[in-house]
Amino acid sequence: MKVGFIGLGIMGSRMAENLLKNDYDLIVYNRTKAKAGPLVKKGASLAGSPAEAGEKSDILFTMLANPDAVEEMALGNDGFLSSLKENSLWIDTSTVNPSFSKKMSMKAKERKVRFLDAPVAGTIGPAERGELTILVGGDKKDFDEAKPIMETMGKKIIYLGENGMGTSMKMVVNLMLANAMVSFAEAMTLGEALGFAQDTLFNTLLGGPVTPPFLSGKKEKIQNKNFEAEFPLEHMQKDLFLVSQTAFENNMSLPLSNTSKEIYGLAIKNGLSKKDFSAIYEFLHK
Ligand code: NAP
Repeated sequence: MKVGFIGLGIMGSRMAENLLKNDYDLIVYNRTKAKAGPLVKKGASLAGSPAEAGEKSDILFTMLANPDAVEEMALGNDGFLSSLKENSLWIDTSTVNPSFSKKMSMKAKERKVRFLDAPVAGTIGPAERGELTILVGGDKKDFDEAKPIMETMGKKIIYLGENGMGTSMKMVVNLMLANAMVSFAEAMTLGEALGFAQDTLFNTLLGGPVTPPFLSGKKEKIQNKNFEAEFPLEHMQKDLFLVSQTAFENNMSLPLSNTSKEIYGLAIKNGLSKKDFSAIYEFLHK
């Protein structure tokens, strides 16, 4: 089976490598061609365009920054949706909003292509080790067929219902993640202002009942003031924008998440867009 992969950023490069490790015949495409180099050296073949990747794939994965990037690769000049074979399967693992996933599922259907929205939870480490959680929406038969290949990238593959339900759950998960990071940064900032050493705060908060486990993984970044991106801050702001849009489309109001979105937005204006989203600590701490 020929497997295509479009989008070789922080996450996509590692997910695609797990396909290679599991002996899939892999064809890759990335807008910035140089990023495909390491995978090509390990045996992947390079497509000259998204359309070529589509034409040569039985299953095609996308792992792209945002809805615009997905739309551009699928439906733009040389997009892959017009070249994918009838009955082939497109699995979009990008974090996008549910109404966008539904729109893409309709576009795929018009071309007789099957579609799963399958965003992932987990960052660089889990992506490298094939231990992501994958949240899937779409036809159950397509899910059952795709599960073994998704298991090369994830250890928990969850079926959530029709198209758009995978990305719906991803909105729920990232709302928690984004707000928890801001909340922790504020707690640390107050604690330090009250005279506590950073270590005392880490010892009190991390591993305790009020602090989500992922925050233990941010300790070193905060200690060393090294915010090299695992999850770029600009993507977290994008995710909160998509959460907000999704709430609007469903007549919901999310006051806290919208405030968080603006905090991440201000951090971007202060030059932190490419840093890890935990750099929100640095922004609030100034
Ligand atoms: P990334 O390193 O910034 O990679 C983004 C990818 O999208 C790159 O391949 C980039 O191509 C491509 N891209 C961006 N704009 C494009 C456009 N207009 N046309 C074509 N390609 C475009 O991001 P990432 O961290 O891998 O994240 C990818 C997705 O996964 C995002 O939706 C993110 O929210 C989600 N996610 C990330 C994490 C994480 O921890 N990092 C975890 C879960 C989910 P170039 O190389 O040419 O820029």
